[in-house]
Amino acid sequence: MSRIALSMTLLVILLATAGLIVDPSMIQDQSHSASWTLLLLIGIGQAMWYWRGVRMSVVCLLPVLAILLLGLASYLLPEALIPYVTLDQWASWLPGVQGLDDLRPPLMELLILLALTGGLLGRTRASLAAPLLQALAALLLVTEALLLATDEIRSPQNLAGTPASMLLLALLLAAQFVGVVSGWRHTQTSILRSLIPSLALVLASLFVWHQQTLYVDQQLQDELQGEADRLATQLGAEITAHLEAVRRFASFWSLLEEPPSAEEWERQAAFYHQDFSYFLNIAYIEADGTIRLVHPRDDSNRAIVGINALDVDRPYVDALAKALSANQEGHTGVVPLLQGMPGMIYYLPITSPDQQRVTGAAAMVLSFPVLADKLYAETLLDREHIRMRFAVDGDTIRDWPTSESPGPWTTLSLLALDEQELTVALNASTGYLLGLRSRQPVASLSIGLLLAYLLYMVVFGHHRMSVQHSSMYRSNEELRREVRHRTELQREVEWLAGHDELTLLPNRRLFMSTLREQQECRPLSVLLCDIDHFKSINDQLGHQAGDEALRRFARVGRLAMPEGVVLARYGGEEFVALLTGVAADEAVEIAESLRQSVMNCGVEHADGRPMTVSIGIASHGAGDLIAEDLLHRADLALYRAKRQGRNRIEVCGSPA
Ligand code: GH3
Ligand code: MG
Ligand code: MG
Repeated sequence: MSRIALSMTLLVILLATAGLIVDPSMIQDQSHSASWTLLLLIGIGQAMWYWRGVRMSVVCLLPVLAILLLGLASYLLPEALIPYVTLDQWASWLPGVQGLDDLRPPLMELLILLALTGGLLGRTRASLAAPLLQALAALLLVTEALLLATDEIRSPQNLAGTPASMLLLALLLAAQFVGVVSGWRHTQTSILRSLIPSLALVLASLFVWHQQTLYVDQQLQDELQGEADRLATQLGAEITAHLEAVRRFASFWSLLEEPPSAEEWERQAAFYHQDFSYFLNIAYIEADGTIRLVHPRDDSNRAIVGINALDVDRPYVDALAKALSANQEGHTGVVPLLQGMPGMIYYLPITSPDQQRVTGAAAMVLSFPVLADKLYAETLLDREHIRMRFAVDGDTIRDWPTSESPGPWTTLSLLALDEQELTVALNASTGYLLGLRSRQPVASLSIGLLLAYLLYMVVFGHHRMSVQHSSMYRSNEELRREVRHRTELQREVEWLAGHDELTLLPNRRLFMSTLREQQECRPLSVLLCDIDHFKSINDQLGHQAGDEALRRFARVGRLAMPEGVVLARYGGEEFVALLTGVAADEAVEIAESLRQSVMNCGVEHADGRPMTVSIGIASHGAGDLIAEDLLHRADLALYRAKRQGRNRIEVCGSPA
């Protein structure tokens, strides 16, 4: 298994190295080369893990972890703590680095790399949440693929990498998975138990992150759009104001009988020129089209005095004709002006006081670039970071780029001016937008993932503990059963040591120890019983019948004995009874009762004679008891009973 994993990891290392050395265009830009470099290092760490074990892998991966954590911190740092531009500037001090985004991988890839590194540093142990980290990496890869596929990538934040780097990450993840999955088999249920809730939390965090990302980006876009709209409104107001002014200016001259004198024109026009600096000139055109007076009288304007504007082959001839012949306001569209810039000329008819006759026209040349400059000069926009473009009918009139890299969005605001369309376009730089952009989405994603990690650990630990607890409980139960069994066995062994298995009576050993304990009890008698001709029962009826006869003897013997008498099997077909507190004459009575019982117990010899017993009695009245002596005397009495014909009772007198 680990050989396959090692081969896959080596393939990743090979591809990443090739990608970095051979074909940088595949990596597209710097931030992706950061991804690839870190990926290569993690690949090396993973190969070390399979090849040389933990220590080498840790040496390789700890610096990677530190870099990744710094990267994550850079996404999380609040603007108030360290502004984005400062971080960007610090990053740009490094050789070959243009900004912060060149140093840190895109957010999704950074998190995937973190998960892969964490899994390896956690020795891919299930108890250290390696399964969650791998599942998390897989989910983040899917998210990254979705982001790439749905083009939601258009955020100032660097969210996703390239398909090539995703492929390598997937391969590295697969290698890690293949290498360790077999080791998780014995904790499979605990892993599944803890994966389900923690992955649900991961999914919820990703969902919340996605929604918040869309929201904060939309907010930024709205802000920019608002700015562009404000500028367009300002432009509209400016145009309306100057049209009003132009009309007032024309109607003023219509009140006069005479055409305006040069001084008077100069004086009046100067006011307007002062207010509306984007009027390149304000000219008086006579009824036949001759340009008579021009303000200001600079070199370029002086050249057009005396020219008949109707003779010039320019698009504004029609507009002038409209004013002079039809007594209507006329204006050119956007035209290239004599001054070498795009603009528009308004022609307003000047009539006689009775308004019957058009005596001339006032012409005002409006320069769009100057108008745009005025707008730009008056705007409160952050010009260092926001690029502004001013266009008329799609042709750029003015463009104020910034030195920073352009952001992903260009917001347009359009303003209709008769047939013309004026456009104000704004583009805020990526750095500027990132400075403004809320850290909330990244923060909630990071917190969500951290909580999912902790949840996994808690559920896994809890489940492992309960599994261990129940297995301990089971083995305790087994142990208890074993102890019970052994105790029973012990008891049985103990019982067997003192009893006879066939008749279930105490055996000779137990009897002797009981007898030796009877030092205080006086008088005391023993009956030694021997079944008569027992051998013949065995021989003629078989051993089983002999055994049954012994059992029957034990049964009737116990019944014939008063309470407290110990009846034991002395050996073979001999039995002995200990009668405490019983003197010889009473013992004779008991023995007689026993003899009778045996004779009537139903056991018969082959020839039909009943089984009988001979009994020897010995008693002890006072003094020290010597068990062997007492039994010896009983044996003598028994011997006598046998000799005298069996089925009888003999008493051995006291030794004294
Ligand atoms: P006596 O009247 O002189 O006592 O004659 P007897 O046959 O009873 O005595 P003997 O000592 O010759 O025989 C005792 C027999 O008891 C011998 C032995 O095979 C038999 N015996 C001893 N223990 C057992 C036993 O547990 N089961 C059976 N079936 N027979 C036993
Ligand atoms: Mg015998
Ligand atoms: Mg016998």
